Amino acid sequence: MRSVVLKDTLIDKEECLALLDEYSEWYEEQTGIKCDWYVEGKDFSQVATVADSDGDLKPTYKYRQALAKDVHDRYNDYGVDNIVMIVHENNFVFRGYWGINWAYSHFKYGFQLVRWDKDNPANTFGTLNHEQDHMHDRLILEELDVDINPILKVADYDADVTHGRHPKYDYIRYQENAKTLKKLAPYLQQAFKTRKEKHAKHVGLLTKIVGLLSTVVSLLSNRNK
Ligand SMILES: [Zn+2]
Repeated sequence: MRSVVLKDTLIDKEECLALLDEYSEWYEEQTGIKCDWYVEGKDFSQVATVADSDGDLKPTYKYRQALAKDVHDRYNDYGVDNIVMIVHENNFVFRGYWGINWAYSHFKYGFQLVRWDKDNPANTFGTLNHEQDHMHDRLILEELDVDINPILKVADYDADVTHGRHPKYDYIRYQENAKTLKKLAPYLQQAFKTRKEKHAKHVGLLTKIVGLLSTVVSLLSNRNK
């Protein structure tokens, strides 16, 4: 799993890396999937917000999309899987939640907003885990065309599993539903592999185009001699 992490400049880099490491280790234990983090510092003291119908205050689509476009300019659709925007609690002016996941709303990425709890890293871990978990059903559906609801015998993964509505599952606050992640592991591995293959195909195509163009240029320059 490859993620660009947009880390609030208020967050200590070493502390952030330590938390990401801890999550990687845990995630790999459940899924066998390694996490790659591409960490970039970002000033989140001024974020444009909008209130939704529930009264929750969120970063605007335009603001998020501008961040995503900057990532997309460098990584294209499938060069990374997620954008994780981690905002220090002192800059976390958003209301009604500690995190949100937007699946495939910004290009082909998962876009996760995560609140950084300065005194309790377990809360940050839990929020990151919660938002990443919201991504899993959609990721498997988009990449493999597989609906995991009937596989897990639930009606709605996000409500029943991530939010623990179904009696078999627990609301994710920290490391809940690890067993479910183990069950999803083969699908998740395949989904991330599919994304990597799509990226390799894209890069291959670009290389081919560059090769063709340089042939055209040399043919033209020979003709002009
Ligand atoms: Zn949730």
